[in-house]
Amino acid sequence: PLTTADLIEEHRICVCVRKRPLNKKELSMKDLDVITIPSKDVVMVHEPKQKVDLTRYLENQTFRFDYAFDDSTTNEMVYRFTARPLVETIFERGMATCFAYGQTGSGKTHTMGGDFSGKNQDCSKGIYALAARDVFLMLKKPNYKKLDLQVYATFFEIYSGKVFDLLNRKAKLRVLEDGKQQVQVVGLQEKEVKCTEDVLKLIEVGNSCRTSGQTSANAHSSRSHAVFQIILRRKGKMHGKFSLIDLAGNERGADTSSADRQTRLEGAEINKSLLALKECIRALGRNKPHTPFRASKLTQVLRDSFIGENSRTCMVSSFSSKITCPRWWNLFHRVKEFGI
Ligand code: ADP
Ligand code: MG
Repeated sequence: PLTTADLIEEHRICVCVRKRPLNKKELSMKDLDVITIPSKDVVMVHEPKQKVDLTRYLENQTFRFDYAFDDSTTNEMVYRFTARPLVETIFERGMATCFAYGQTGSGKTHTMGGDFSGKNQDCSKGIYALAARDVFLMLKKPNYKKLDLQVYATFFEIYSGKVFDLLNRKAKLRVLEDGKQQVQVVGLQEKEVKCTEDVLKLIEVGNSCRTSGQTSANAHSSRSHAVFQIILRRKGKMHGKFSLIDLAGNERGADTSSADRQTRLEGAEINKSLLALKECIRALGRNKPHTPFRASKLTQVLRDSFIGENSRTCMVSSFSSKITCPRWWNLFHRVKEFGI
């Protein structure tokens, strides 16, 4: 198991994978588990029995990440090694970002927001809430207390390249960029929060808003990015910002071949934003002067997160070995590309 000694503190970019446990139905299917986590930073893809492509995949493949969390890892543990080290960043006038990446059904929302599936609702155990808890704890430290910081939260969704405010009945918002390249989401509600409970209430409001009117909550969330932000202000001025993002399902890229035009467009848009995200994170990791943040709405609204001396990012890529993935190695290669 992971211990405090395993904590990598100085990383600007941390890329991790998380395997979710199988549910009852999946457990009843007794086929082989093709993906194992033999140590704290290694994922192994085993040769599936069927469909062996002899030309390319003769051996088991291993992939190394900053951390590989196995299916017994709790949200609290995942949080401790990914987003927790970034809380300090926003108190030191920096920008922190945490992404949940993966296929629909792999555990992104479970990781970020808690569990919203029916009776198991408990958003107090997701990374949104855990980060909020530690922001309020940190606020009490003498060093930071004397700064007299205020805490605000925003919650919005990006769907097909458009921004909707989840704290304001899904109002559609415009994104403007001024001459100094400052990006503003016009009219985005920033609610002041005084304690973790305030944050939990906002998450609930936003989540119910996110899925209302949808025939299937999962169908919608798989096509949109949800962005939750914790903002520190000092005398009204932004001091630091933590963006926590539940990304659209990364399988959507495959939909570009779909016959349905709308689905195809959505797929293309998601593809574009995930690619842009990768480029921006890589630019950040390599200290490149140019960050291609304009390539998608997602990266445009997150512009602040990719620039500046004090920006840090972590990504938790969730997966389940029982979700059909035609090319597991492709998925892990793709995730690795977010790192440096
Ligand atoms: P996604 O947001 O990626 O589509 P979800 O977070 O909704 O996926 O997860 C799909 C299902 O799997 C949900 O019922 C969720 O409760 C469950 N699940 C996901 N990850 C875990 C986990 N680590 N432990 C227990 N259940 C999980
Ligand atoms: Mg989800």
